[in-house]
Amino acid sequence: MNNFIPVSAPLITEDDISKVTSALREGWVSGEGPYVKEFEDKMGLLTERDFGISVANGSVALDLLFTALDLSPGDEVILPSFTIISCLGQLLRLGVIPKFVDAKPDTWNMNVEHVEELISPRTKAILAVHIYGLTVDMEPLELLAKKYGIYLLEDAAEAHGQTYKGKPCGSFGLASTFSFFANKNITSGEGGMVLTNEGLLASKISSLKNLSFQKEARFQHEELGWNYRLSSLQAALGSSQLERLNEVVETRKTIASKYRERLSDIAEITLPAKQSTGSENHYWVFGIVLDTNSGISAKELQGLLERQQIGTRPFFYPLHSQPVLEKYELQQQPQLPVSEWLGTQGLYLPNGLGITDSDIDYVSEEVIKAIRGKK
Ligand SMILES: *Cc1c(COP(=O)(O)O)cnc(C)c1O
Repeated sequence: MNNFIPVSAPLITEDDISKVTSALREGWVSGEGPYVKEFEDKMGLLTERDFGISVANGSVALDLLFTALDLSPGDEVILPSFTIISCLGQLLRLGVIPKFVDAKPDTWNMNVEHVEELISPRTKAILAVHIYGLTVDMEPLELLAKKYGIYLLEDAAEAHGQTYKGKPCGSFGLASTFSFFANKNITSGEGGMVLTNEGLLASKISSLKNLSFQKEARFQHEELGWNYRLSSLQAALGSSQLERLNEVVETRKTIASKYRERLSDIAEITLPAKQSTGSENHYWVFGIVLDTNSGISAKELQGLLERQQIGTRPFFYPLHSQPVLEKYELQQQPQLPVSEWLGTQGLYLPNGLGITDSDIDYVSEEVIKAIRGKK
C-alpha cells in the first residue's frame, strides 16, 4: 500500500529554516523590521512595482484593496465567477454589486470578450484573476479600463513568477494582490501582499492594515483599520522562498508534462491548455475536467482516489452560484455554463514539489482505472 499522496505539500529547505532562525535570533518576530521590508522590496522588484504592502494573507489583501478604493453601495465590480470566494467577500460586505464573467472552456480563465457588455455607469473596477497557471488576457482589459475610466486590478495569487506577453504578473493595472499560503508557488505559511505604484493608495492600505495608527497622535483614530500585519518570521520564510521561485516553476512544469504524457489519450478528460494569449502554462496546479457524459463527477472520482491514498481538490465552485449571495439578495444570476461545468467536473491532482515519478504513474493509473470502471 502506498503512503498517502497529498494534493500539495510545500518544500521547506535548510536555507528557509536558517533565515527564519536568524529572524528569531535577532528578535524580529512581529510585523515590522528589516525582514518585512526585504520581502516587500523583493516582491516589488519581481512585479516592477514601487510599493509592496505585506499583509496576513491573500484574502485580506483583496479586502484592503477594495476598502481603500472607497467603493459605495450600489457600485459595480466585474470579476470572474470561476475563482475563490476571497475575490467576492469584501465587495458584498461593502454593498458593491458583483458582475460575474464566465470562464473560457480551454484556459479556464475569465472570458474577456464578455466584459464590455457588463460595464455600466456604476462600474468602478474590473478584477482579473489568473487561474491555475495561465493568465487572463490582460491587454483587452487594459483598453477597457482606459476607455471607461475604471480601475483594473489583478489577483496574482496563483501566478508568482508567471508573465503575460513578457511582463510579470502582478505588474498590471492599478494594483495587484498575492497570497503566500502553503500551496502557492512561494509560501510564508500564511501571508499576502498588495502591490502598486500609487503612493497614496499604498499609504492608505498600509494604514488600514495597521489599525489606522497615526504618525503624530498614534492612539487617535480618524479611520477604523485592522491588524492584518505579516510577521517577520513569515516574511523571512517568504523572502527565502522567493530565491527559488524559478526552480519551483520549472518543477511544476515538469510534473505537468509527466501527467500529460500519461493522461493525454483519455477521451473522458480535458487537460489544462498548454498556453493562453500571452502566457505558457505554469501549472500552479494540475487540473483535469471530466466530460459531462463520462458517467463520473469530480466528487465521485475524488472519493475513489481518496480510497487509493490519493489526495485531490475540487475546482472552485462558481461564485455566481454561491448560497451566500442570497443573504445579499443577489441570488438571481445569469447562468454561466463554463464555470458551472468546471465547478462540478473539475479537480486537481497531486503536484506537490516533492512528488516522485512513481507517484505520478500511480495517480495516473488510478485515475484511468476509476474512469474505466465507470463505463
Ligand atoms: C489562494 C488565493 C487567494 C487567497 O489567499 P489566502 O492567502 O489563502 O487568503 C486569493 N485569490 C486567489 C486567486 C487564490 O488562489
